[in-house]
Amino acid sequence: MVKTYVFGHKSPDSDTITSSIVMANLENELGNADAKAYRLGNINNETEFILNYLDMEAPELLEDVEDDANVILVDHNSPAESVDNLENVNILKVVDHHKLALKTSYPLFLRFEPVGCTETILCKLYEENDVEITKEIATLMLSAIISDTLLLKSPTTTEDDKAAVEKLAKIAEVDAEEYGLEMLKAGTDLSSFSIEEILALDAKQIDFKDVKSIINQVNTADISDVMAMKDDLEAGMNKIIEDEGLDLFMLLITDIVNSNSQVIALGKDACLVEKAYGVKLEDNTVLLEGVVSRKKQVVPIMTDNA
Ligand code: MN
Ligand code: MN
Repeated sequence: MVKTYVFGHKSPDSDTITSSIVMANLENELGNADAKAYRLGNINNETEFILNYLDMEAPELLEDVEDDANVILVDHNSPAESVDNLENVNILKVVDHHKLALKTSYPLFLRFEPVGCTETILCKLYEENDVEITKEIATLMLSAIISDTLLLKSPTTTEDDKAAVEKLAKIAEVDAEEYGLEMLKAGTDLSSFSIEEILALDAKQIDFKDVKSIINQVNTADISDVMAMKDDLEAGMNKIIEDEGLDLFMLLITDIVNSNSQVIALGKDACLVEKAYGVKLEDNTVLLEGVVSRKKQVVPIMTDNA
């Protein structure tokens, strides 16, 4: 059987890591491939909480994948977020909930749905293929859906995500609300990270038309904890702006309890934030009320105003 690498995006989050494990298991259960999950970067504290809860090892770090290797992508499809030689590998399948960015010169299996989490799609794939969702798999799926939808509160949440959480919580034998809050809070502990690491944790390179940007999102239970590091964060952001030739760096500090985001915006196009949200940056920062989703409440609005 063909050896297949399964992985999600760089700067991996809980959906990327758990989906890699869950997708590899599905392929192996179906006898489709000799599949193994990998990660393209360090796992974050939230993912560590999930893996510890299940007493599971993190997937192996993938430094390089050989040209012509068989790969399956989960939770991403943009070449910028994937392995460097993506155009030289053989992509067998993609399961994702982001916008389509991939172009290939060959046919492949694509499963995209506009839901809150890749694991919601994987949950359906298990059902469609009559593969048992074990307690362990259910916990992985449930954790990722809670993570990506911030306990079903993010505007990216769909009815399918809610239905999956209800079903998976039963199999996982956990109270989704209680487990979820504990998990999200574990993910907000930044004490073990340097400023450079915080700025790389969940950074996405996204260009708004001609505006070359990075948007980074950090979850917290208390915005002021993160804002206490503002000077150091700004120094780090300015360095990245210079090194990467960026026009804009947005750091979203998202309050998972009250569902707001404090944004720090730097770079020559920082004023785009003011235009997009009708706000005024003071000292490079402003509170964006009700904004929690980068994908739904930041990327499209910034693109429209660029
Ligand atoms: Mn992700
Ligand atoms: Mn995701």
